[in-house]
Amino acid sequence: MIDLTLPEEHEALRKTVQEFAREEVAPVIGEFYEREEFPYRIVAKMGEMGLFGLPIGEEYGGMGGDYFALCLALEELARVDSSVAITLEAGVSLGAMPLYRFGTDEQKARWLPAMAAGERLGAFGLTEPGGGSDASATRTTAKLDGDEWVVNGSKAFITNSGTDITSLVTVTAVTGVRDDGRKEISAIIIPAGTPGFTVARKYSKVGWNASDTHELAFADVRVPRENVLGTVGRGYAQFLSTLDEGRVAIAALSVGLAQGCVDESVRYVGEREAFGRKIGEYQAIQFKIADMEARVHTARLAYYAAAAKMLRGETFKREAAIAKLVSSNAAMDNARDATQIFGGYGFMNEFPVGRFYRDAKILEIGEGTSEVQRMLIARELGLT
Ligand SMILES: Cc1cc2nc3c(=O)[nH]c(=O)nc-3n(C[C@H](O)[C@H](O)[C@H](O)COP(=O)(O)OP(=O)(O)OC[C@H]3O[C@@H](n4cnc5c(N)ncnc54)[C@H](O)[C@@H]3O)c2cc1C
Repeated sequence: MIDLTLPEEHEALRKTVQEFAREEVAPVIGEFYEREEFPYRIVAKMGEMGLFGLPIGEEYGGMGGDYFALCLALEELARVDSSVAITLEAGVSLGAMPLYRFGTDEQKARWLPAMAAGERLGAFGLTEPGGGSDASATRTTAKLDGDEWVVNGSKAFITNSGTDITSLVTVTAVTGVRDDGRKEISAIIIPAGTPGFTVARKYSKVGWNASDTHELAFADVRVPRENVLGTVGRGYAQFLSTLDEGRVAIAALSVGLAQGCVDESVRYVGEREAFGRKIGEYQAIQFKIADMEARVHTARLAYYAAAAKMLRGETFKREAAIAKLVSSNAAMDNARDATQIFGGYGFMNEFPVGRFYRDAKILEIGEGTSEVQRMLIARELGLT
């Protein structure tokens, strides 16, 4: 049976996050954005609400919910602001989930409770300055020296990696050569503050200005042998699977931004006048908003479909890539149209649409560019 009505629990969560975003994020986030400041107070509140523990089991202090719940929360947050949404997305989907899915019992018990409470953030270091799309091109190395890994290399654009509450970054590193001659890649947990681990100054970015992003350097960083995430040599597979889930989350975030553009536009065109009439009375404007609404609707269906397969335990790689591709596209198109509808005010930072415009572009780049999504879809169709 096809039923797209949200179950009661999911609907209740969506409403709670919607209210939080409108009442506690919207009034203040513009100032954090202007100051390029990480919103610790908002993150702490999201922690108290349990948002960082949504898909994590209760045994580790999580809410014991599912990944779709996280997606709904991301959508509602991004409807108001994407810096806050990406902080949650990266904290859960990239920081905590690799540990939750692949970590040993000891690793989970040690790191997850504080992350699930939102008191600490984990980061995920895959991309390197030399390239991100080809994840197998990793140059960072980790060599065993007695009972310690010695890590050398660097990572680029790592979200949540330099906040005061960052507890660790999990990085991919080459740990040897496989039987087929290809690189053996493992994921290694590097606690914040480990000697030799340097967090560079934060980037100056086009958007996501209240989120935390840094380049990281590792010079003879020593961590215990047991800091390998789960099993040696599984790093590449672990990160690919993390990204499949993450794409559904980014799709949800993109839908939120695209919806925010519709919300703001509908409100504005009922107030703004030109040539003696409300601009919302002009069909050219109505059609623009109708197209925006159609994009949000279809993008939402795409991520719901991917999430449904994910929750049923079926393969969802193709659906995740499609959802990410169409949703980021919808976000970008809607941000451009909303800015146009706002005219000169659309170019002013004091209005949310200006922020939406700056925040939309990264959605076509992060967690796999649109070209990478097309490569994945083509591959699923047997085109190699
Ligand atoms: C704000 C921000 C936050 C981020 N957070 C994280 C994070 O937390 N962790 C993390 O690991 N990474 C993170 N990233 C990195 C992000 O995932 C990468 O930027 C992205 O995957 C693209 O990699 P790249 O920038 O190296 O581009 P490149 O791989 O250099 O690609 C450049 C261009 O070439 C295209 N291209 C590449 N290969 C092909 C091909 N075969 N066919 C056609 N076109 C191709 C790409 O689509 C792109 O348009 C973040 C990035 C940003 C900007």
